Amino acid sequence: MNRDIRIVSEEQCTGCGACENICPMDAVALKEGKEGFHYPVIQTSRCIQCGKCKEVCPGLKKPDTNRRIPKCRAAYGEDEIRRESSSGAVFTLLSEYVLEKGGAVYGVVLDEQFQAIHVRVTRKEELAPLRRSKYVQSNVGFAYRQIKEDLKAGSWVLFSGTPCQNAALRKFLGKEEERLLQVDLVCHGVPSQKSFDAYLKETYPKAELKEFLFRIKDAGHNCMVSRATLKDGTVISNTADTDLYEKGFHQSLFLRKSCEVCPFAEPPRQGDVTIGDFWKLEEYNPAFTDPLGVSLVFLNNEKADHIWAEIRPKLKFDEPIPPEFALSHNRVTARIDIHPNRERFFELWQEECFSVAARAALEGRSVREIKQQRQRELWEDRKRNLSGRVKRVLPQQVKDIGKKILKKK
Ligand SMILES: Cc1cc2nc3c(=O)[nH]c(=O)nc-3n(C[C@H](O)[C@H](O)[C@H](O)COP(=O)(O)OP(=O)(O)OC[C@H]3O[C@@H](n4cnc5c(N)ncnc54)[C@H](O)[C@@H]3O)c2cc1C
Ligand code: SF4
Ligand code: SF4
Ligand code: SF4
Repeated sequence: MNRDIRIVSEEQCTGCGACENICPMDAVALKEGKEGFHYPVIQTSRCIQCGKCKEVCPGLKKPDTNRRIPKCRAAYGEDEIRRESSSGAVFTLLSEYVLEKGGAVYGVVLDEQFQAIHVRVTRKEELAPLRRSKYVQSNVGFAYRQIKEDLKAGSWVLFSGTPCQNAALRKFLGKEEERLLQVDLVCHGVPSQKSFDAYLKETYPKAELKEFLFRIKDAGHNCMVSRATLKDGTVISNTADTDLYEKGFHQSLFLRKSCEVCPFAEPPRQGDVTIGDFWKLEEYNPAFTDPLGVSLVFLNNEKADHIWAEIRPKLKFDEPIPPEFALSHNRVTARIDIHPNRERFFELWQEECFSVAARAALEGRSVREIKQQRQRELWEDRKRNLSGRVKRVLPQQVKDIGKKILKKK
């Protein structure tokens, strides 16, 4: 028999997976809930009531050993890597530090099915797919168990993930590990894999989608642009102004419930090093900004200070910034404003497809209006395509005669 574990309330459960990783009987599994996010379900016939899943849950007690006021830097690496990174490429530099010691790096990729999952890599050439933010909650699987094994074998490890995943790893290991470098992201919040799947399915014919990348820098670092590449070579760019998924993410329409009040966002932070985008840096010093992106870096403990001193020679730019400035310009507070129509979106999504529900919720309009408008847009599209096709097949002579007639009129 299965039952909900309810170690913490739905509002507090981040889906971090610590309970699933710790259970000695493999009695816990994260299963998809009503809104599409994963929550732990316990197989009672296997459970021996050892209580470890409660002990390890960061939702019940947040680790708090790091600095209450972190040291802060604005930094970036070489241009070539920055072009492929969300911000200043600090993730790559920290990863290379660990890989050069023969260690392993854990980070998030979009796999062939466009699923966000944590993977383990051991070579620099394997880092590319881990770069760039994926605005989807990742499946951490049994990474915490695997990291414990790596550390036991004496290997260096870098773990990169959201603050709640970093809190989970800290609690799972239960002690300070000298050879572990934890890196947490400044985290706005996460949508579910289910919503990303639905968006992709409704926007691109699945069999034809070759690659999907968030945070493309073609139009500058501050642009929230994603790019879909189809198998026939067609490239489609989406911005936060035009694309439903980008809009919904940035306007906090379909984030996980636990992201609204997140204790892991505020210091003490959960990584040894925290990385993010240095928003509003121009208000501190315009000369520090750079179109290819600048990372916000928090050094949260002495281990971080030491490693930072070692990677400094590889940085192209690195300046100290008063922490008060950075702490007042990014998502480093527990509470964020959630879109007022969040609940409406999830209710509508029970009945309607993702794009109709998202559009109705974002635009505050009825489903009927949205559907009618979609029909009109589809009709306009068809007309445009048809006239394009007709133009392509008409012989030039006929086109010239047509132009003359129109001119005379
Ligand atoms: C869901 C999400 C929300 C974010 N919100 C903010 C924000 O509000 N403010 C801000 O300043 N920065 C935010 N970031 C962080 C920022 O976008 C960059 O990821 C960060 O600055 C690192 O940039 P980089 O150039 O050093 O590394 P990159 O090379 O871009 O590396 C990206 C790193 O992020 C990890 N990662 C990517 N996707 C995920 C995921 N879904 N879950 C866990 N880890 C992931 C990868 O493993 C990799 O380590 C967010 C990132 C994500 C994934
Ligand atoms: S350990 Fe993580 S996934 Fe498990 S109940 Fe707690 S917050 Fe939820
Ligand atoms: S109490 Fe122990 S055995 Fe039961 S689900 Fe939790 S960790 Fe597993
Ligand atoms: S906002 Fe908090 S709860 Fe949500 S994914 Fe980020 S760290 Fe986890």
